Amino acid sequence: MMHLIDSHCHLNSPLFADCVDRIIADARHNNVMKMVLPGITATDWTSLQGLCELHRGLYWAPGLHPLFLGEESDKHLERLATIVNHSKTVAIGEIGLDFYPPGVDAFIQQRLFEKQLDIALVASLPVILHVRKAHDKVLSTLRRMHFSTGGIVHAFSGSLQQAGQYYDLGFCIGVGGTITYQRATKIRKIVSELPKEALVLETDSPDMPLAGHRGENNQPQYLTEVLTTLAELRNEPEEFTAAYTTRNCEQLLNLNDL
Ligand SMILES: [Zn+2]
Repeated sequence: MMHLIDSHCHLNSPLFADCVDRIIADARHNNVMKMVLPGITATDWTSLQGLCELHRGLYWAPGLHPLFLGEESDKHLERLATIVNHSKTVAIGEIGLDFYPPGVDAFIQQRLFEKQLDIALVASLPVILHVRKAHDKVLSTLRRMHFSTGGIVHAFSGSLQQAGQYYDLGFCIGVGGTITYQRATKIRKIVSELPKEALVLETDSPDMPLAGHRGENNQPQYLTEVLTTLAELRNEPEEFTAAYTTRNCEQLLNLNDL
């Protein structure tokens, strides 16, 4: 039987507040057996931990998103350094650099990013990266810090060459709903050319609705449609694509032990 992992979904979103049990049941019904829940702000961490303690197959990646850095971030970093010891913490995320919106403070983002990479290194945990308009900066930071525990580049939007550089540093590329859009020619070409060891699946639910589901909240159960498109683009049987994307994610996040 196929067994899929959604490596990026925000099940603690207020949009799922009164239906999260059904969302998880629908996911399992569609072979999505494990789900990884990244953090955005420190306020998220309590609800993420609660969900992971309540449901088997759920894991979390606490962290501070680069666009939601509050003034209390030093206090939050101290708390983050203790949360890494929770039994279902599998990564630090989502962290990174986002220079897309005008007027962001690149200096503050960089500082918080490096501090969270340090926490991940000390805890021997991988990271889930959120990066826009900053791939070269993130790559040079990872190299300079000798970042060795790898991770996932979520919602990848860079070039094939940059994807290859992440892969060489021990990262996988998170493949999501964008590939279901015919017009997304660049990312469709990239995911068809990367080595199979470089790919994991994600939805980013409730964000990034798939083609055919516009106007709906995205859900982990639709990961099967991402899988179908990826298998088509790579000209592979779906079961084969399912097996290696799941294996990649389990190895990267050490989900086998949990
Ligand atoms: Zn996300």
